[in-house]
Amino acid sequence: MRAVDIIEKKRDGETLSTEEINFFIKGFTQGDIPDYQASAWAMAILLKEMDARETADLTLAMAGSGDQIDLSDAVELAVDKHSTGGVGDKTTLVVEPIVAACGAPVGKMSGRGLSFTGGTLDKMESIPGYDIDLTTEEFIQQLKDKGLVLAGQTADLAPADGKLYALRDVTGTVPSIPLIASSIMSKKLAAGAQAIVLDVKVGLGGFMKTVEEAERLAETMVEIGEHAGRDVVALISDMNHPLGQAVGNALEVKEAVETLQGSGPEDFREHSLVVAAHMLVLAHKADNLQQAKEMAEQVLADGSAYQKFKLLVEAQSGDVDTIEDTSRLPAAEIIEEVTAPEAGWIDRIHASEVGLTVVELGGGREKKGQPIDHAVGVVIHRNVGDRVEQGDVLFTLHANSREKADLAKERLLKAHSIVPEEVEPLPLFYGTFPEDAAG
Ligand code: URA
Repeated sequence: MRAVDIIEKKRDGETLSTEEINFFIKGFTQGDIPDYQASAWAMAILLKEMDARETADLTLAMAGSGDQIDLSDAVELAVDKHSTGGVGDKTTLVVEPIVAACGAPVGKMSGRGLSFTGGTLDKMESIPGYDIDLTTEEFIQQLKDKGLVLAGQTADLAPADGKLYALRDVTGTVPSIPLIASSIMSKKLAAGAQAIVLDVKVGLGGFMKTVEEAERLAETMVEIGEHAGRDVVALISDMNHPLGQAVGNALEVKEAVETLQGSGPEDFREHSLVVAAHMLVLAHKADNLQQAKEMAEQVLADGSAYQKFKLLVEAQSGDVDTIEDTSRLPAAEIIEEVTAPEAGWIDRIHASEVGLTVVELGGGREKKGQPIDHAVGVVIHRNVGDRVEQGDVLFTLHANSREKADLAKERLLKAHSIVPEEVEPLPLFYGTFPEDAAG
């Protein structure tokens, strides 16, 4: 078999066999197939797509390219969640402690920020001392002992995806349903959770721009999970405007802590409760979504979810004092309110523009491995559908350079659109796969 023949076959729109996909992934992981051929192959897949069988084969080949963890030795049933990437998406920080407080173990491996989207690991690293680098043994031991763990992906987990993703990021081959589905699901399968809730983001700040695309991605990932013997539910959620108010690492940790303490923005709290409820149903801790949501509300109200978050931070060497007193988290030097230039209804807060502005402020990376500034970001005070008067505060900027603050202010004002006629608020969710999981 030759890599070039497999590339040409896909280029011509033909279906690849299981053997061809396995050959390509094995050769690429071992370094026998060079990056330029893998990039060409990824572009051919983006343009000519893959059918369900090919996508499942690609997922299994990447999942099998490194270690595969079996969490069933550690706990009866581990549940995981994964978001396809969004702006202001700090859901894991709230959902994981809620679910653990309801008695379901959560073993989660997260990623770093990517393009305009934020990354859970970067957010957690705003907490001084928090260690995301656990070995597989440490990951399993903490899951056993504490019932929750939130760490980075170990190097040996789905290494083919790690290599391919790095190429896709710089060759314009990210937004492909078979490539995204296999990338996410290969990591999820290798990480070993038996039940997985997928949060598929759609809109201006997600990789999927239309509900139809998001539905196809959701369906593809649920099918792959089922094929691999996992219980998977996918939610399709809005990502046209940022989730909650805070965008930026330490600011998002603060908002997550406030939500765990019973306050926090209403849209973010509701989104977290729904995701947590699906995880609890999959983990067999509740019979239906209604009951699961009540359980989730209860552990927020009685403080046990907040206690679990502190336990998580402590278990991974983070400074719990910064959680008890969030003014000790990294803070920016320049904090400035920006007001509405005119009255009207908010029609759009362009989420990816907001995400990119935070990257420019230093809160995300323009290149892999770049250090980031955890303190910077923005707090958005108004949502799409809100009425504003001229002079009302639209957002608060947190910056560490005058020049960057001025540029960010301009860009964020452009990301907002205010219109004279009334605007409907955006929904939180557009659907669920499988549909009967909607309760
Ligand atoms: N997240 C991933 O892990 N992979 C993708 O391809 C896109 C988002």
